Amino acid sequence: MSDVLELTALAAAAALADGSLSREELFETYRARAAADRAAGEQGLNCFTWVAEHAPEGPAISGPLAGLPLAVKDLFCTEGVPSQSGSRILEGYLPPYTATAVARMQAAGAGLLAKTNQDEFAMGSSNENSAYGPVRNPWDRGRVPGGSSGGSAAAVAAGLAPWALGTDTGGSIRQPAALCGIVGLKPTYGAVSRYGMIAFASSLDQAGTLTRDVADAALALGQMTGRDACDATSLEFPHAIELPSAERLDGIRLGVPEELTGEGIEAGVLECFGAALARAEELGARIEPVKLAHAPHALSAYYVIAPAEASSNLARFDGVRYGMRAEHAEELVEMYTRTRHDGFGAEVKRRIMLGTYALSSGYYDAYYGRAQRVRTKIAEDFRGAFAEVDFILTPTAPTVAFELGEKTGDPLAMYLNDYCTVPMSLAGIPAISIPCGLSRGLPVGLQIAGPAFSENRLLDTAHAFELALAFDGSAARV
Ligand code: GLN
Repeated sequence: MSDVLELTALAAAAALADGSLSREELFETYRARAAADRAAGEQGLNCFTWVAEHAPEGPAISGPLAGLPLAVKDLFCTEGVPSQSGSRILEGYLPPYTATAVARMQAAGAGLLAKTNQDEFAMGSSNENSAYGPVRNPWDRGRVPGGSSGGSAAAVAAGLAPWALGTDTGGSIRQPAALCGIVGLKPTYGAVSRYGMIAFASSLDQAGTLTRDVADAALALGQMTGRDACDATSLEFPHAIELPSAERLDGIRLGVPEELTGEGIEAGVLECFGAALARAEELGARIEPVKLAHAPHALSAYYVIAPAEASSNLARFDGVRYGMRAEHAEELVEMYTRTRHDGFGAEVKRRIMLGTYALSSGYYDAYYGRAQRVRTKIAEDFRGAFAEVDFILTPTAPTVAFELGEKTGDPLAMYLNDYCTVPMSLAGIPAISIPCGLSRGLPVGLQIAGPAFSENRLLDTAHAFELALAFDGSAARV
């Protein structure tokens, strides 16, 4: 059984194919581990909000992922399976259909193992905003796993799932991957359909992967990309996603932006980052400074744009169509008000108020219009930088995993966690976080960002880093 846990998803697929592992053993090994964590509630890691009772049935399950168990962030709609986006307001909601990203993984043979805990409506950087309790970091249970895809990240790091899907609006795949010592990929905006993802900020939300290694990220992404008639912002990916193979970085130009690699980043994180750059040079890469002049304004723009879109997206939760409805309301407006009062947590209410304010007449131009102009500048900065270098490197998060409760009283301190990841989200470009060492015994993430649709080259570059850095994540396995 412990041998099974050593396998990446790609290796497990190979073991299934050559008959050295059975689908039943693989699925049941993970299912039992996930179910035990779920049964332990907050005494465990609290990674899951739902765990399958048995492997998916059906003689016709086939495809490149046949028999591979998959954990999926709660906010992906899954037909007949609770999909609550970490919120009380969607408690018990059973969608009538499955999100395209999940459906494509299932069509390739993957089986739904579990739904993972997350910050409510993906708003947060620590998983402490979940209505279903915080997730714990398997490296240190007194610390957060990051967020908002914290359940997915902790589950993969702990060996409770071979791999998982997450979503990233401003860093929610990359930052928890960094804090849990695994690989997190946010693809180009539009590369994977948003259909069936419970929306937070539609112009930023992007599905992606949390995996043990870079090859697994490529394996999953390859199944999920492509135009979907149900999402008008989805795009046909210009080429097939390939498994990465690069071992060297000869001739690759890597840009390091001063704006995202200095002030505000913990010394131990910068040390690991510096060591990764040194390794890259040994592998043949050239390191060059690049300018992202507007990146320091990314967080401010994001915290106008994302709440503005959220205030609109979350208007649909009114007690009429989905999930919970406040009881004993005398009339309609009271029913709406009480449902939203009882159903939303504090952070969600804060964002709805911020967003509604930013969009209100008279303020629209001062806040939303301005933030959109900053967003354009940020995208232009990246275009300029990518004329000089192939990829941009930064630490993924400014700190290692922090303690549970450490930042809950200070929303601004919490928002600062996304300092290095938000610029790429605003620009819609792909970025990956891979583990690049330990600081104070906790994982540090290296973020590599590339131009839109550069995923194949990005994954190859990340693969060369991964081989050279040889990070050992086994200490997190439970
Ligand atoms: N932490 C950021 C926020 O709270 C990003 C979340 C995300 O990417 N979903 O908005």
